Amino acid sequence: MAIIIDGKVFSESLRKKIQKVTASLKDQQGIKPGLAAVLVGADPASEVYVRNKGRRADKAGFNSFQYKLPVTTTEDELLSLIGQLNQDSQVHGILVQLPLPDHIAESKVINAIHPEKDVDGFHYENVGRLVTGEEGYVPCTPLGCLMLLKHHLGNLSGLNAVVVGRSNIVGKPMAALLLKESCTVTIAHSRTRNLADVCRRADILVAAVGRPEMIPGEWIKPGATIIDVGINRVYDAQGNKRLVGDVDFESALKVAGAITPVPGGVGPMTIACLLHNTYVAACRLNDVPVARIE
Ligand code: NDP
Repeated sequence: MAIIIDGKVFSESLRKKIQKVTASLKDQQGIKPGLAAVLVGADPASEVYVRNKGRRADKAGFNSFQYKLPVTTTEDELLSLIGQLNQDSQVHGILVQLPLPDHIAESKVINAIHPEKDVDGFHYENVGRLVTGEEGYVPCTPLGCLMLLKHHLGNLSGLNAVVVGRSNIVGKPMAALLLKESCTVTIAHSRTRNLADVCRRADILVAAVGRPEMIPGEWIKPGATIIDVGINRVYDAQGNKRLVGDVDFESALKVAGAITPVPGGVGPMTIACLLHNTYVAACRLNDVPVARIE
């Protein structure tokens, strides 16, 4: 029976550590990390995400600034707000909740954020830094996955890692992080042939697809560590809603060495890593040493 990697417990402990180093940053340097979250439109799921990020930031002792703009906001208006936030010395991290309405070019907006305030790690400069192995900001979900993996496995060097999914926010940065840890990395996607065989070679299997329970236990190498990023809403015969991952948890549990559950695995790590990145940004922007958190 696999060990369950509890992201809820791990993220709580990470948030407490961030709260502690934030309190000393304030006491010793008079600096309070500031996180600005920008939401355009009224997508209910995005509103919940932004509200939760704000609450967690407040709890960690940060300043949290929220900008809720109407769906009619133009690209120029949004870029002008980003410009103001780039200049604002109280703001150390800027996040623009995605997706943006169709009339706004996401890449233009993301790349307008100052790279040193890009705590989501989506700016081209930070993507380049990740790939070349330089210090920058790493996207929060893959960073959270890596923290869980290192906590569970310690040294990842030489392990076969398979990442299913090649999105810019999860799959690709996850693969880059695992390569940096000296794993032998395979990236699988919708065109991959014999996905079952590819998955069976994985000592570490990261599933970031968005298809409910598509990876069954029989695709898993005995003893492998499974990180399930997928968040899928499904309905049972009675019409009750529940969340499931991309991995069939019940069958995987019997074969894997360790697995993250959905919910309560990767999900809670994302916001904790956003706070982590914002704390780091507040230190770096003020030329203050970053306290060791992990
Ligand atoms: P995307 O839709 O951007 O990417 C999905 C990837 O899965 C694509 O690369 C796609 O391949 C691949 N894929 C689709 N179908 C198959 C298939 N049958 N076999 C193999 N690969 C396939 O999704 P995201 O990366 O944004 O998110 C993935 C999941 O993670 C979602 O469930 C999302 O909700 C969740 N998520 C969770 C977060 C958290 O905080 N825990 C944060 C972000 C996402 P191709 O490129 O060829 O189309």
